[in-house]
Amino acid sequence: MVVQHRNYVGGEWVSVSAAREVVNPATGAVIATVAESSAADVAAAVRAARDAFDSGPWRTATAQARGRLLFEMARIVREHAADLAHLETRNCGKPIVESEMDVQDAATCLEYYGGLATKIHGETLPVPDNALNLTLKEPVGVVGLIVPWNYPLLLAMWKLGPALSAGCTVVLKPAEQTPLSMLEFARLVHEHLPELPPGVLNVVTGDGPVAGRALVESMEVDQVAFTGGTETGREVLHGVARSNLKKVSLELGGKSPNIFFSDCDLDAATDGALFGVFINQGEVCSAGSRVLVQRTIAAEFLARMREKTARIRLGDPLDRATKMGPVVSREHMERVLAAIERGRAEARLVAGGGRAAALPAGCFVEPTIFESDNAAWIAREEIFGPVVTVIPFDDEADAIRIANDTPYGLAAAVWSRDIFRCLRVVKAVRAGIVWVNTMQPCYVESPWGGYKQSGHGREMSLQGQDEFLETKQVHINLSEAPLAWY
Ligand code: NAD
Repeated sequence: MVVQHRNYVGGEWVSVSAAREVVNPATGAVIATVAESSAADVAAAVRAARDAFDSGPWRTATAQARGRLLFEMARIVREHAADLAHLETRNCGKPIVESEMDVQDAATCLEYYGGLATKIHGETLPVPDNALNLTLKEPVGVVGLIVPWNYPLLLAMWKLGPALSAGCTVVLKPAEQTPLSMLEFARLVHEHLPELPPGVLNVVTGDGPVAGRALVESMEVDQVAFTGGTETGREVLHGVARSNLKKVSLELGGKSPNIFFSDCDLDAATDGALFGVFINQGEVCSAGSRVLVQRTIAAEFLARMREKTARIRLGDPLDRATKMGPVVSREHMERVLAAIERGRAEARLVAGGGRAAALPAGCFVEPTIFESDNAAWIAREEIFGPVVTVIPFDDEADAIRIANDTPYGLAAAVWSRDIFRCLRVVKAVRAGIVWVNTMQPCYVESPWGGYKQSGHGREMSLQGQDEFLETKQVHINLSEAPLAWY
């Protein structure tokens, strides 16, 4: 049965005049239709969020009340975890075991920011006068949250948690390919959390250049928090400049180096290289898509990677044994396959290199390994699929030079038994997240975000909440002496 969804605006389900189909990338089947929102539809959601912020009960809700609502949301997510994970996998194709972890992480994120709601506070400052000078932390206001398709529910919660905790009201736009888990979240909240005032949470679906752009360019929106591709991020900045110079945070793409020195444990290291790039079919912003290997071990390293890659199980993402599902859509599969073709022309293909026939109508791409230097297009461009380039290096300085030779700076990892060398590399690499002897662990307690063209601002952690707060300076004169101005 094809489920028909509407927008969630002002606490109600609202129909719009156009619809878009949502496809299961494992089977090619249409599983739902969602609203194809126009700019006017988005404006209605912004208006609801504006009213809820400017004159609704959210403005006067205590931090304790906001925190309790976030804990309630987390409880609802955990109670419906199995259904949410199933829906996520059917919509975006990720293995069910990974969806289950994402849903738990989504609930953990809500709990973390539920707890933080009561820890928002300013400071008193020692100004050189008979005065009391202090700061207040206040919510930015109405925020537009725009998320991509690779972790649909989890990345929505990375933004929703801190935004609501800070006291903002939100209009969230999921990616056009993967709106279902967020719509289900809104349905669950609507049904089980009547205490949430209407207009605090609004969800609109639709095309990026129409609905997303309307949110970015709205004069009524105070901030946009965006996760997506670097080129789209550039568009977002243009839109912000064209409209009201709203506050903006950007979590963008990456081409992260995963660096292996000759003294690493080869077995653990090759596992780390494969996991670091092929988890979630390689559709990970922090994917270790450049594997830098010291030249003395490169041949053995590549041989082990190839042998292990042949054992990665592709298939039905609802099967618990599956390690890689389909990529998110037919369009994306064509894009990844075209990138692989371009890679073949300039780099040595070591494994994979084509479409996989795991399920006949599914969008499966073989895990693919190239070997080249860092100048090759395939080593520089974010593919956002199961494609990795192995790049040999000579020594530590060479590794650092290659690692930093990219416009991106989201993440990096370094593997060696020599902790001093690891720490030198940690300091030398220009990236927002650096792992040592592991890759990809990600915690709500710790900040996430990129250097260079991987974006600005940080998500998660205390810093993630600060993105949604303004700082107001308050200066109170304590002197009763007249102002000696004349
Ligand atoms: P995308 O940029 O195509 O789309 C992201 C979101 O932006 C979608 O909701 C889309 O509808 C919307 N959008 C598209 N055009 C828009 C416009 N002109 N104005 C406003 N919104 C618009 O990205 P994608 O293909 O969905 O996701 C993949 C990208 O996201 C990759 O580059 C990946 O690295 C990045 N990403 C980054 C992080 C991070 O934390 N840094 C996390 C996940 C994904």
